Amino acid sequence: MTQTKIIDGKAFAEKLRADIARRVAKLKTEKHITPGLAVVLVGDNPASDVYVKNKAKQTREAGMNSYEFRLPEDTYEATLLAKIEELNHDPNVHGILVQLPLPKQINEAAVIHAVDHKKDVDGFHVVNAGLLATGQPGFVPCTPLGCLMLLKDTLGDLSGKHAIILGRSNIVGKPMAALLLRENCTVTVAHSKTKDLPALVKQADIVVAAIGKPETVKGAWLKPGAVVIDVGINRLPSLSSSLPAGGAQGGKLVGDVDFESCKGIAAAITPVPGGVGPMTIACLLENTLKAATAS
Ligand code: NDP
Repeated sequence: MTQTKIIDGKAFAEKLRADIARRVAKLKTEKHITPGLAVVLVGDNPASDVYVKNKAKQTREAGMNSYEFRLPEDTYEATLLAKIEELNHDPNVHGILVQLPLPKQINEAAVIHAVDHKKDVDGFHVVNAGLLATGQPGFVPCTPLGCLMLLKDTLGDLSGKHAIILGRSNIVGKPMAALLLRENCTVTVAHSKTKDLPALVKQADIVVAAIGKPETVKGAWLKPGAVVIDVGINRLPSLSSSLPAGGAQGGKLVGDVDFESCKGIAAAITPVPGGVGPMTIACLLENTLKAATAS
């Protein structure tokens, strides 16, 4: 029976944010630059509203300027693109984040493409995706960047480790694979058409789960001593009401990993909440500081 370490992403993110605040203060004193992050929210998705408020609060706490723009649900794509163009040219704005998902009349890809890639602190622009894929410096998506920090903190050198990533989205799975390749891991990327997932997971020293399916990865799938990073955020239906899963309210939050069954088998695991989640905003601040420093 392995003693499983619970990876405290909340504490790690707090330390990182304190370090970012120190570096922001230095940039202000030495270069008279205050990093600025603009967040654009379209519509009134309650979960997005909570994320945007948290981002603004933590941006200000780090000593940066936070600019929030709220547009109505029926905003035309052209109106949003014009707002982005304005922010692209605003010298006080170093990072631009358009909160996803967007209402259905707006083409997400067009919006991501419209953000100046030098202000793309989300790392979603094709230029940044291409830079990451070809091993060149650019902005790395915040969630996989946070996962990598936790992995390095837990394991040190990742070279030669076999990592399996469950999920191949542009915002988590694919950039995570590129980052781990860069660290000299041997990387397997699994997705919904992958056959015999448990047998593949069994071979891995590192498991990153980002599929959006509650408690899917079981302890019995793991190689004993594996390190497990659970990116998933799933809200189970509330027992006491008929609120739907995935809403801002409702039942318990769980990851893509069956946490309880992994304890005693994994060497280390991130909890949900309190694992990867807090790292995402901290990495957004890191990227914003990087954009301001390069300006
Ligand atoms: P997407 O829905 O964009 O992608 C899910 C991926 O998982 C797809 O590649 C899909 O395969 C794959 N998949 C689905 N079911 C299975 C399965 N049973 N076995 C193997 N692969 C499967 O999700 P995201 O990448 O955006 O997010 C994943 C999870 O991470 C979600 O729970 C989300 O809420 C969470 N998340 C958390 C963040 C944080 O800050 N902690 C930030 C971002 C996301 P296919 O391509 O074949 O469809």
